[in-house]
Amino acid sequence: MEIRVLGCNGGILPGFRSSSFLINERILIDSGHVADVLTLEEQNRIRDIFITHFHLDHTKDIAFLTDNAFGDHNLPISVYGTEQTVSDFQRHYFNNVTWPDFTKINSGNNPIVRLVAVRTREKTVAGGMEVTSFIVNHSIDGVGYAVRDGSTIVVFSGDTGPTDGLWDIVNGDMNVKAVFVETSFPNELQAIADASGHFTPQTLDADLRKLTKSTIPIYLYHLKPRYYDTIIKEIEALKRDNLIILQNDLRLTF
Ligand SMILES: [Zn+2]
Ligand SMILES: [Zn+2]
Repeated sequence: MEIRVLGCNGGILPGFRSSSFLINERILIDSGHVADVLTLEEQNRIRDIFITHFHLDHTKDIAFLTDNAFGDHNLPISVYGTEQTVSDFQRHYFNNVTWPDFTKINSGNNPIVRLVAVRTREKTVAGGMEVTSFIVNHSIDGVGYAVRDGSTIVVFSGDTGPTDGLWDIVNGDMNVKAVFVETSFPNELQAIADASGHFTPQTLDADLRKLTKSTIPIYLYHLKPRYYDTIIKEIEALKRDNLIILQNDLRLTF
């Protein structure tokens, strides 16, 4: 499995991009920052987008991906999420106010977008892979995703604070090769992190005690740009060898 990091930051500033992971050049996990990173040809290969939750830093570039898709006759693009997320897309995004309703506008014989509600722990086959969602703990309805390619599984937390759903999935399968976990705020903003459903280094450290596989690589992402250096110092102070700060544009193979 090849994972290309299109964006892995908890906000946008020059050099910082919001969350998007391209897997095997075929599917996206979140769509926060895509349209000015991938060429049109690369965008045209994406037909399946799995959204962890409706927040704008995970969804904003669906607007520009779908706009760029007009004229392509090999559609639709399927956008997957929980029932709540899919309903939010229809009411607040593809509503002919925020953006044209691309679920009703055809390019060729097909609509540009198809919204698909997926139940947690239900397997969805897309791009030759199998994707399973699990509930996490964010300020709005949110899930993480486990992506299986052959015998390799990689797990994405989405936005979450302390959670059992993530670690149950990771502990439950020997084939999990890597975990991508958010760490949004520094320890001094613990109250904000708790209220908004995010990790700090100290709550991440406590949650990692639920992990039974101490050597599995944990890639940390969604660090808030304003607190980036502080969060990194606090992560380094944990002295856990398996924690890696994720970088934009990395291509990781598992
Ligand atoms: Zn969020
Ligand atoms: Zn976010």
